[in-house]
Amino acid sequence: FRVPPAYNEPVKSYAPGSPEREAVLKQYDAYYNSNRDIPLTIGGEKVRTGNTRPIAPPHDHQHQVGQYHLASEKEVRQAIDTALAARASWAALPWEQRASVFLKAAELIAGPYRDRINAATMMAQSKTVHQAEIDSACELIDFLRFNAEFMSQIYQEQPESSEGIWNRVEYRPLEGFVYAVTPFNFTAIAGNLPASAAMMGNVVIWKPSDHQVFSAQVIVDIFEEAGLPAGVINCIYGDPAMITDILLAHPEFSGIHYTGSTEVFKGIWKKIGDNINTYKTYPRIVGETGGKDFIIAHPTANPRQVATAITRGAFELQGQKCSAASRVYLPKSIADDVLEGVKKDLKSINKPGSPADLSNFVTAVIHEGAFDKLAGYIDRAKSDEDAEIIAGGGYDKSVGYFVEPTVILTTDPHYVTMETELFGPVVTVYVYEDADWDTTLELVDQTSEYALTGAVISGDRYAIQQATRVLENCAGNFYINDKPTGAVVGQQPFGGARASGTNDKAGSAQNLMRWVSPRLIKETF
Ligand code: GLU
Repeated sequence: FRVPPAYNEPVKSYAPGSPEREAVLKQYDAYYNSNRDIPLTIGGEKVRTGNTRPIAPPHDHQHQVGQYHLASEKEVRQAIDTALAARASWAALPWEQRASVFLKAAELIAGPYRDRINAATMMAQSKTVHQAEIDSACELIDFLRFNAEFMSQIYQEQPESSEGIWNRVEYRPLEGFVYAVTPFNFTAIAGNLPASAAMMGNVVIWKPSDHQVFSAQVIVDIFEEAGLPAGVINCIYGDPAMITDILLAHPEFSGIHYTGSTEVFKGIWKKIGDNINTYKTYPRIVGETGGKDFIIAHPTANPRQVATAITRGAFELQGQKCSAASRVYLPKSIADDVLEGVKKDLKSINKPGSPADLSNFVTAVIHEGAFDKLAGYIDRAKSDEDAEIIAGGGYDKSVGYFVEPTVILTTDPHYVTMETELFGPVVTVYVYEDADWDTTLELVDQTSEYALTGAVISGDRYAIQQATRVLENCAGNFYINDKPTGAVVGQQPFGGARASGTNDKAGSAQNLMRWVSPRLIKETF
């Protein structure tokens, strides 16, 4: 069997007067004026524990748009039992029937659910409509379509046989359940992490970020409408430490598909080590974590191109992409031109505001903790001698968690914001002497424990080759003459190494292989 060939979902423009613009704003208003009550989903049952937390948009934090129910230990254990009970029939289903559930989900998002998933992402994660469209609509659709194609390629991969002997591989799901933990910043990741493991025949317990519940619930609805059998993906909300402790202590825990902070991931890894004698099988550990992503420009770079890479790479989605540019190395000869370009870009955009105003480029950061952390580093840069704020620097949390796109210029390549992951609209720039290009490449390599994304911008072929070689371990996704964000499924499989993750590229056959336990069968006639 071959699945229909995957293709990237075309991105809609939301231009004034377009039907999609009106539709998404109408849905946004409906959500804004709603008070959604969001249950847990365990075995297809909607479970309301009565222990709830309110949901408010980050750009309008005094306005409640819903509440969600929190699992207690009882519901977590119930989710494990329910998942395990659903396992045998799901794993036994012919793979093309599993694929077709997720291909149907992709078409539901492309069609009737597009406004809902985009408006929910705008509301709860404070994404502009364009950032919502490329994430919760297009990227999620692409993950589902391409993974179905990768899956069919995997199943067709078979060993050689010989006379009287038939060798064959069964791509079996893992024995047990998979735990999916997803971050607030991408609705596409929220859908992909549980779906990719489930597609390969696994049952999943999915814990979305507290700041993603609103859009996660739309994904639950979509999977249900697409025909996903009850119990295959169980969605629970609540205290992450409690949930993780229970799941990781279970003998049938067989893998974790994680995106989130480095610290939490390392804690999970340790806990799995501590529990190793409990498990039936060695669990698969797949994670994408932090980043301290760089742009380095060569003296031959086009200053306008570098400025655009910074403005878009550092500030789209308020810098809350794991891939966002957060440390920049500029040669002295073009630094002024580049920075003038960035300032000009920032002057042309509105102050941070609500995503309901479609002309806003920057909206709110996700929560008060993120806001306070960013404000703290901005204040520090205002008073530190080796740092200077050359654009932005303002912040205000009275209505929403708004932080202006901020550029810090430092004379110290190891200045705190050159090294610390801030996860917000703050980029730090270090200017190097043109003659120091070689040593600056070494500096880029040695400055960060992370290795997620990075970009070199240069008009010189030799310099590009040199950067590609010297920086070979600093970025799982390395961009030449481009910004370091915006990987497209099926084109740039995504993931990082070092402290940034296990580099099991999202949107690849390699990732799907982590969710199977192949059995080789040799039959002799
Ligand atoms: N894949 C996204 C990009 O290329 C980033 C994903 C993330 O933030 O985890 O920008």
